[in-house]
Amino acid sequence: MTVWSKLGYYGRMASGLYSLLRAPRLSDPDGMIRRQMENRERHFLELAQRAIFANPANPYCQLFELAGCRYDDLAEAVRRDGLEATLAALHRQGVWLSHDEFKGKQPIRRSGREIRATPSSFRNPRIKGRLESVSSGSRSGGTRVRKSALEWRHWEAHYVLNIREFSLVARPHLHLRSILPAGEGLLVSLVYSRLGHPMEKWFSTCARSLDSSHYQAATHALVLLARWCGERVPFPTYLPPDDFLPVAQHIARRRQQGPPCVVSAQCSPAVRVAAAASERGLDIRDTIFFVAGETLTEAKRRAIEVTGAEVFTRYWISEIGPIGFACRQMTAGNSVHLFHDSVAVITYRRAAPLLGAEVDSLLFTTLLPSAGLVLINVEMDDAGVLAPATCDCAFSHAGFTTQVRDIFSYGKLTGQGVTLAGADILHILEEVLPARFGGAPTDYQLVEQDGDRQARVILRVSRRVPLPSPEALRDCFLRELRQFQGGAGASRLWRSTQAVEVVHADPLTTHTGKVLPLHLLGPGSRRPDAS
Ligand SMILES: [Zn+2]
Repeated sequence: MTVWSKLGYYGRMASGLYSLLRAPRLSDPDGMIRRQMENRERHFLELAQRAIFANPANPYCQLFELAGCRYDDLAEAVRRDGLEATLAALHRQGVWLSHDEFKGKQPIRRSGREIRATPSSFRNPRIKGRLESVSSGSRSGGTRVRKSALEWRHWEAHYVLNIREFSLVARPHLHLRSILPAGEGLLVSLVYSRLGHPMEKWFSTCARSLDSSHYQAATHALVLLARWCGERVPFPTYLPPDDFLPVAQHIARRRQQGPPCVVSAQCSPAVRVAAAASERGLDIRDTIFFVAGETLTEAKRRAIEVTGAEVFTRYWISEIGPIGFACRQMTAGNSVHLFHDSVAVITYRRAAPLLGAEVDSLLFTTLLPSAGLVLINVEMDDAGVLAPATCDCAFSHAGFTTQVRDIFSYGKLTGQGVTLAGADILHILEEVLPARFGGAPTDYQLVEQDGDRQARVILRVSRRVPLPSPEALRDCFLRELRQFQGGAGASRLWRSTQAVEVVHADPLTTHTGKVLPLHLLGPGSRRPDAS
């Protein structure tokens, strides 16, 4: 970042944060959700009219034109068939975006026409999103996602249900999230303060490197601003590299003093906290972990539950916001109640080349009038199953009666809360490493694996390739990774947690004998061969 762009960033964040600080507190969260549910079709049509049909530069405008669908046709279809059925029909007619098309990594090609787009092509013209967040992985491309204070204010209603469902009020609440430029840590902390249930402590996994010092200063300044406005937002406590013991110790200490803690965290760091507690024999029973950012696999769930703690999923997509939260009864698999007031989700069956299997891919459509991005049927390389939610819980009572089950990422590698798109890593595996160390593209394979303590990324190198120094190869891989957008964060994190291991063993094959360069072991996929 240049000095000017840094100043612009700080200015936007401070002004966005100030808007949220000044926004009135929610007086009727249930009414807010109900009104948005009642008006979701109208809001969808208004967004489409203003952001798409009135704006020929919007890529969707051309997609609708190619599909032969005018605004009146769209409105008629929604009225006649309902929103989700209309979205499915639009998908069949080419009105949708693959993840790479949405990110601008690949042009949108439909009926012989090529449409160029970047994520900013989809901005809502009515909304000034100032609350900026940069996610750590290349799924979000290290892209800046800007959200408005209004959006965050709507999401507060979802957090009210979370507090109600889990009776959180009496429990100390800890936060284990990165500091800026990832904005969610700060903002979620602020949300809980505004809802009268402030976080007690904020542990950050941020590495103490030179490039993070200005983000530490900026985080500190924005926490000061929030506190000056009367909010109880904690300053971050920085953890030593690759050491989650201080969090486990804090949880154990608090448990002796009173009600057990609640911990909001990314999935892998939560597993590391639980593992640290297990190793040291610390008592963290009855702690509730809310985890986001990665698939909560059975192995990760076990690693947390073995301590006597509980773990529940929060499904967030940085470009969109919260997609759904789990209720108390969702104690197996990776499931959430879908927040269909603010997002419409449909599925379609597709092949997932990296898995060598078919999946139900999720397509997302934004519905809030305050949505920063106006998206219709965007694929995020996540799969899941939509089903009725029949449980008796705060989310069902609020009208969230659809669940998304078995959510997992199928097109990318997600370890330690870092997400990297397949195409970025393929270049390293298939070109850089063979050129440097010998062998052919299929001689190198990344395998995502749930370890006992944390998600591990195994870099398998075929025995055909001489491997005098696994360390040199690992360093080369991490160094190359830095060159990609978002890869720098991944490289730093993976280095600091030693999450990447080089193994001199032949790459795994699928049941059809294929060697896939990225071998992902998601819960919806069959583990191809023994590893
Ligand atoms: Zn429920």
